[in-house]
Amino acid sequence: MRQCEVLVIGGGPAGLSAAIEAAKAGAQVVVVETNREVGGQLVKQTHKFFGSSRHRAGTRGIDIAKILRKQCEDLHVELKVNSLVMGIYADNVVAIDEKKSLTEHNIERIQAKKIVISTGASENSIRFPGWTLPGVMGAGAIQTMCNYHRVIPGRKLLMIGSGSVGLIVCYQLMQAGAEIVGIVEALPHINGYAVHASKLTREGIPIYTGYTIKEARGKERVEQAVIAKVNPDWSTVPGSEIVLDTDIVAVGAGLKPLIGMAHMSGCEFVYDKALGGWAPCHNKNMESTHKGIYVAGDTTGLEEASTAIEEGTISGIAIAESLGYIPKDKAKTLKDEGWERLAGLRSGFKGEDRVKAKMKQLNRYDEVMKGGK
Ligand SMILES: Cc1cc2nc3c(=O)[nH]c(=O)nc-3n(C[C@H](O)[C@H](O)[C@H](O)COP(=O)(O)OP(=O)(O)OC[C@H]3O[C@@H](n4cnc5c(N)ncnc54)[C@H](O)[C@@H]3O)c2cc1C
Repeated sequence: MRQCEVLVIGGGPAGLSAAIEAAKAGAQVVVVETNREVGGQLVKQTHKFFGSSRHRAGTRGIDIAKILRKQCEDLHVELKVNSLVMGIYADNVVAIDEKKSLTEHNIERIQAKKIVISTGASENSIRFPGWTLPGVMGAGAIQTMCNYHRVIPGRKLLMIGSGSVGLIVCYQLMQAGAEIVGIVEALPHINGYAVHASKLTREGIPIYTGYTIKEARGKERVEQAVIAKVNPDWSTVPGSEIVLDTDIVAVGAGLKPLIGMAHMSGCEFVYDKALGGWAPCHNKNMESTHKGIYVAGDTTGLEEASTAIEEGTISGIAIAESLGYIPKDKAKTLKDEGWERLAGLRSGFKGEDRVKAKMKQLNRYDEVMKGGK
């Protein structure tokens, strides 16, 4: 069986950053990515990021992906694409299904001294009459079709959810030529960044706050959607219905950490709404309760590419330290700097809940390691 020092599951910003730090220090690193190229969510993010220059404000997500990939290539990180990690087994053995062509697969096992799980997140769905009709899709899936595969799945889009993902996807679909018939938000206010929302309202796109979708209608596929005002108990207000002509109902109802790999490895979890649900707990090295298995990015709780990069960086430094490539004192300084930058990133929008949830995650790790339930 093949051996390696560090195996990273998932080549998004978190995984690539972990790989870069570990490889920079001298470790041999393999990144396994199920898609045909690395970059994770970034490969479809045509918008410019905001924040600080350290976090590449002003650069488009797709370009950040290219920068991270180039850094990996220069450091001789092995990027194993079209390859799905099927499972983590005893003694850090990972089984990989590599797609060679449409019909050919190669199954390989690799044993790693250290593993980083950075598998990202998956989209939430919501149910309503007509939700299985063709044309009802996840907002992230629509973004992949449009920005990556260059296919617009419909012409008249209704977005359910005014979080940042929903808002960004609407704007990008509009740029690609689709008409946005409206954005529906059950909360009494817009849920995403105001900067994204105002770009849409300036174009005259209606944002229905305090509304939900009641029904999607159509014979073979979506043709209409019925929206209605929502009561605090989620029932709809009779007589408040609005019927909209649409051929795409996009569901932007949030994301949740993709935790299958962490679960399989036996890590302990913590639940918090601000994390997006269940997420593995970890210490300040980003090491999970399973020794030698590290976690980083959206799989540890939903945040942003910038925080994913910082968590990946910290895990890469901690791994390099534990393999003897970085002296303890230098590693401590580097990790402390990373935690400081994370604190800065988390002090912004919806920061308080995120900080509390992240603290809970660290505390839960300590509790479990002390033998608590
Ligand atoms: C529409 C949208 C807009 C956004 N805009 C911004 C923004 O402006 N600024 C910002 O900072 N953040 C933004 N984000 C958030 C940011 O993209 C994510 O937080 C970030 O990509 C998370 O990084 P990650 O590495 O944890 O996960 P991901 O980027 O999701 O990468 C995970 C990778 O793991 C791979 N993978 C999963 N399971 C396996 C497996 N079993 N085997 C092999 N590979 C696997 C996946 O294919 C994927 O490539 C946005 C997100 C979305 C959806």
